Amino acid sequence: MPSDNAAGDVFIDGLRNAHAMEKQALSIMQPQLNRLEHYPQVAALLDRHIRETEGQIARIEQILDSAGTSASTLKDMSLSLSGTMAAMGHTVAGDEILKNSFANVAFENFEIAAYASLIASAEMGGMSSAVPLLRQNLDEEVAMASALLEGLPGVTQQYIGLRASGERADV
Ligand code: MG
Ligand code: FE
Repeated sequence: MPSDNAAGDVFIDGLRNAHAMEKQALSIMQPQLNRLEHYPQVAALLDRHIRETEGQIARIEQILDSAGTSASTLKDMSLSLSGTMAAMGHTVAGDEILKNSFANVAFENFEIAAYASLIASAEMGGMSSAVPLLRQNLDEEVAMASALLEGLPGVTQQYIGLRASGERADV
């Protein structure tokens, strides 16, 4: 059905989806952080980004409030990525740290795409006051994606070293 404010509708839907995405981000990162034993650099990144994500959720709720939409009415959404991520999380190959690292890079890039689209719909929908807050979220996703990817060779080297010495290497 035609809408007289398609950009605004897309923007509000995008905000709701981003809120659900960030809740999912917490549910992906926190269990990893709880399990990690041998990779303090990854644990530090996850710990920092969990706190950043809580701030991202607060920004999204602030924007929803200012748009007259309560966050408490939000329904949980499933992301197309989530099935893939869950499948990757259930591997039994003993390489959990690697599979989780790949999934974390994938998730951060999903978030980057979501915020890039959300910012475009905010600008089209006359919600430019939301853009600085959304850019802050986007910048944090870009930084996390880069840090994860840049750290991956070192994580892989460490994983190989632990395996070679017969130590537990997967978490
Ligand atoms: Mg995020
Ligand atoms: Fe993120």
